[in-house]
Amino acid sequence: MIGFENLSIDGQKIKANANVFQNKNLKGIRKEKEKIEKLLKRLLNNEIEFKNEDDKKKKKKKLERRKKKLEQATQLLIDAEAEDDDKLRYNLTDPEAKIMQDKRGVKNPDYNAQNAVDDKFQVLTAVNVIDTPSDSEQLFPMKEESEKNTGDPHKNTLADCGYPDKETFTQMEEDQSTEYYVPDRSMHSSKNDKYSKWNFKYNEEQDVYFCPQGNKLVFIRTCKDSNGLENRLYQAEDCEHCDDKDKCRKNSKNKSKKIGNRTINVYLQDEAIKRMREKLDSEDGKKIYQRRMSTVEPLHGDMQKNRGFIQFVLRGLEKVNIEYNLLAIAHNIRKIILHRADALKKYLGNAQNIA
Ligand code: SF4
Repeated sequence: MIGFENLSIDGQKIKANANVFQNKNLKGIRKEKEKIEKLLKRLLNNEIEFKNEDDKKKKKKKLERRKKKLEQATQLLIDAEAEDDDKLRYNLTDPEAKIMQDKRGVKNPDYNAQNAVDDKFQVLTAVNVIDTPSDSEQLFPMKEESEKNTGDPHKNTLADCGYPDKETFTQMEEDQSTEYYVPDRSMHSSKNDKYSKWNFKYNEEQDVYFCPQGNKLVFIRTCKDSNGLENRLYQAEDCEHCDDKDKCRKNSKNKSKKIGNRTINVYLQDEAIKRMREKLDSEDGKKIYQRRMSTVEPLHGDMQKNRGFIQFVLRGLEKVNIEYNLLAIAHNIRKIILHRADALKKYLGNAQNIA
């Protein structure tokens, strides 16, 4: 049932079995711990009334459990250097779930379920649940997992712009086992922005770029970005008199985007990105990339809308992975029943296969 033609990789955010209000930063956890400690003290001093001794014991146990949980959370957040970072939060119901934003912009404690889907019958060839919102770094592991599970690579591998970083583009060119169709984040926006660096013309002989106003950008120096990636910095010679300076200079990477002359950062990997853009813009590329939408989006819709899978039942990364694998198996069995019921019946009818 696997066509080995187009493999689409995509992730979907699935709600964790965790209460969003139990997501607290170090300050919030310390505050609650103080409250619990005060309550415990009052309980031990017999300052709280209970119907009977049993109720008192139960309440004491409950408070002690909560206190222990809060102590563990405090330690974990301290270890994660959360003293100066209010954004670092811990979910007390499922500590391994992370706050993620779904496609509708809703923030919840979620997991990120990665899927690799063959486009023939939308059979899932690999799944993996991760606890980070970003899909980056998932492209090659998912493609390799699919290959391991099915025994063969796909002719084409498709993913959206959330998957690659700059280095991924050169790695995709080096991997000869499949043809990748993966856009970069600014591919579409830069088409409509003539001040995007991608629309500046390069002159190899002079090693200069020309902006849309015909101004020259000359090489200044080699630098490293926040990821340690080397790039060449070019700067325009005179932007002050340009009528379009406000529209153009906001694209500069430097901090004072609105002042000074326009700069562009050119990476070694930009050439691979350009080749990918050309491939995706070709007639064949467009047709192939369109298969992604009609393969992986229906799968998400089917799982969430038709099957009602909008939240994990289990808690913790290991367990939600098991849960999601079971769901993937059920999805594939459904596909077999829908498309290959006769073949399945014949297969099961053979005693040797069952043994
Ligand atoms: S701001 Fe400078 S680089 Fe940008 S279009 Fe004007 S002259 Fe060219």
